[in-house]
Amino acid sequence: MTAEIISVGTELLLGGTVNSDAQIVSEKLSELGINVYYHTVVGDNDARLMDAVRIAANRADIIITTGGLGPTYDDMTKETLAKAFGKPLVLYPEEEARVRAWFSGAGFSFTENNLRQAYFPEGSEILANPIGTAPGCAFHSDLGGKRIAVIMLPGPPRECRKMMYEQAAPFLKKLAGMGEIVSRTLFIFGMGESAVEDKLRDYMRSLTNPTLAPYAKPGEVQLRVTAKADTHALAEEMIAPVIERVQSVLGDAVYGVDIGSLENCVLKLLRERGKTLCAAESVTGGLIAKRITDISGCSDVFRGSAVTYSDRAKIELLGVAPETIAEHTAVSEQTVIEMAAGALSKFDADYAIAVTGFAEGEGNTFIAAAERSSGKDTFNFRFDTREIPLGFDRERSRAMAAHMAFDMLRRMILAGG
Ligand code: ATP
Ligand code: MG
Repeated sequence: MTAEIISVGTELLLGGTVNSDAQIVSEKLSELGINVYYHTVVGDNDARLMDAVRIAANRADIIITTGGLGPTYDDMTKETLAKAFGKPLVLYPEEEARVRAWFSGAGFSFTENNLRQAYFPEGSEILANPIGTAPGCAFHSDLGGKRIAVIMLPGPPRECRKMMYEQAAPFLKKLAGMGEIVSRTLFIFGMGESAVEDKLRDYMRSLTNPTLAPYAKPGEVQLRVTAKADTHALAEEMIAPVIERVQSVLGDAVYGVDIGSLENCVLKLLRERGKTLCAAESVTGGLIAKRITDISGCSDVFRGSAVTYSDRAKIELLGVAPETIAEHTAVSEQTVIEMAAGALSKFDADYAIAVTGFAEGEGNTFIAAAERSSGKDTFNFRFDTREIPLGFDRERSRAMAAHMAFDMLRRMILAGG
């Protein structure tokens, strides 16, 4: 089965709005194992939307539209789709009651154009919208001897996502007699997409159920394993050996399954061990702290980060020796070690990561991960450092430096048992 997404909205063509609905819908479809071959964007125009629907009906089994379900004159998706598939729009009394109730509940006076939200193509299943006013709908058509499923979702991304996941997905599963679909994502760092593919290409190609597919994300690679089976448990059973195989081929480059991010992984490892973390940041400007504190419940592990951009800040806040900077410069292995040691001591934490480098242009970045190795009174620590050339733009250099710092820390924690 293949699906085509038609996003309706002139604002999408003008560049004012990014077509995030298409991304949301596509992501879920790929998780369901439904191939998406085309995305179409069309303005709020009946004739052109009609053309787009005809083309999609020719080359896909499922059409999913986003946007244009509201009450205003430029919202025409239901009308046009009904026309395209030769279905009349009919009034759904429960929906009329719901719209009227909403208006009286909100204290607004009801205007007749709002009744449009209670009309749907005949035979539609209504997809309720618990967080907005315009419901979606879905129907089947056998027009021209081809069976097509049509799903219409509202434009606001929050609503589109919720309805795609909670209502369209079950509709699609039922449609395809799919049973249960389960997917797991392996998170990989320290190996590029082509290296991963090189090691797993033949294996990936040999699999049909489960399937194994790579997704390259900025700075890392993810592999998604998807199994279809009659029951959830059976699908899980089919997935397990694939995960084992990938882990044995890629080794410790795999940092977790369904773990979300390196910082999640690090936080989990520290929490399991009852250990605390701090950071000393120069070039990352607080990014490490941001990424950790984006995770809810991080306060039991994370002590804080010192953003020490100037030499003076490194000296006064972290206790880096002025001679170290004078002799080796602020961007050096010696400095990054003293930054990490200073952070461990100032924040009284068990682990520290430190980064110093250049956000742009030539020049290497130094990263240290440090672990307090003795009691609270006698201060001792062991550390790892890495020197990496980061010739990217500012944003990517920082993101990469933070990634690498988290990964170094992960390896250090795991090495410690
Ligand atoms: P409403 O009842 O809110 O009018 P609707 O289904 O009629 O919902 P639209 O009027 O097409 O949807 O769009 C509502 C808002 O949703 C737009 O202002 C736009 O910012 C956003 N939106 C619409 N389509 C998309 C899309 N494909 N991707 C991201 N945002 C979108
Ligand atoms: Mg609208």
